[in-house]
Amino acid sequence: MADSPTLNGDGDVAMAEIGGDDKKEVKLEDLFADVDSDEEFPSSMPNRMKPSSPLVAPSSPIENGTSISSSDPQLMRMFYQRLFPFRYLFQWLNHSPTPTNDFAHREFALTINDATGSEIYLRYQSYPTSDLIRKDIISRLPTRFEIGPVYSTNPRDRKQMRNQNSFKPLAKELCFDIDLTDYDDIRTCCDKANICIKCWQFMTMAIKVVDTALRDDFGFKHIMWVYSGRRGAHAWVCDKKARLMDDQKRRAIAGYLEVIRGGSQSGKRVNLWRPLHPHLT
Ligand SMILES: [Zn+2]
Repeated sequence: MADSPTLNGDGDVAMAEIGGDDKKEVKLEDLFADVDSDEEFPSSMPNRMKPSSPLVAPSSPIENGTSISSSDPQLMRMFYQRLFPFRYLFQWLNHSPTPTNDFAHREFALTINDATGSEIYLRYQSYPTSDLIRKDIISRLPTRFEIGPVYSTNPRDRKQMRNQNSFKPLAKELCFDIDLTDYDDIRTCCDKANICIKCWQFMTMAIKVVDTALRDDFGFKHIMWVYSGRRGAHAWVCDKKARLMDDQKRRAIAGYLEVIRGGSQSGKRVNLWRPLHPHLT
């Protein structure tokens, strides 16, 4: 990636809003203060907490007995019109107050329910400004949309290019996806898609471990943690040096973080060498 064109030369200046900076230390405990609060989850609450507050409207209906579905078009329109932070999304991905290719050449993939109720997956959508993505999302009401990489040209123009090989991804945040189903072997309260306040502690611990390693061992500063909308959390590492990493570097970081390989019942699962890494000690 050394020969890739630089994006804007504006570096990470705009990322301070989401990731903090050198002087302002991020206190993870503050992020989780409400998780420990008994008021939030009174003891009368059923053990199996239902996922709530999705960032993007999920396609599955709310299973609480009421007739309204979270993919109800009216509800989604209200969500996107009144609640979805399009301006922050733009400022986060654009790295500048005025529109740049960091945003305009970014791929969005939309999942849309058509009139017959079947799902359509639309890749290579892109938008020059925050107002235009807002307008399109409100008119098409996707049940979800995904954020892809920044490409060398506008993703909508990829087929008009004389040399189609020159259409290639240049940058993408380094993302980690932690799912509570990864803990099915060791959690005893719930399994599969179910989560409760007890097993969410595994998520809290995973976030603290991964966040500390990314900051202390790799020097990343601009890390955003978001609730995945169902049963986990995503980390978006937004430092410029993370965004420009190739797949090999991304795999190396994931490999560094791997201590226990989940899933397979046979074979070596624990990956430890002596002397232990200071984190493990
Ligand atoms: Zn549980």
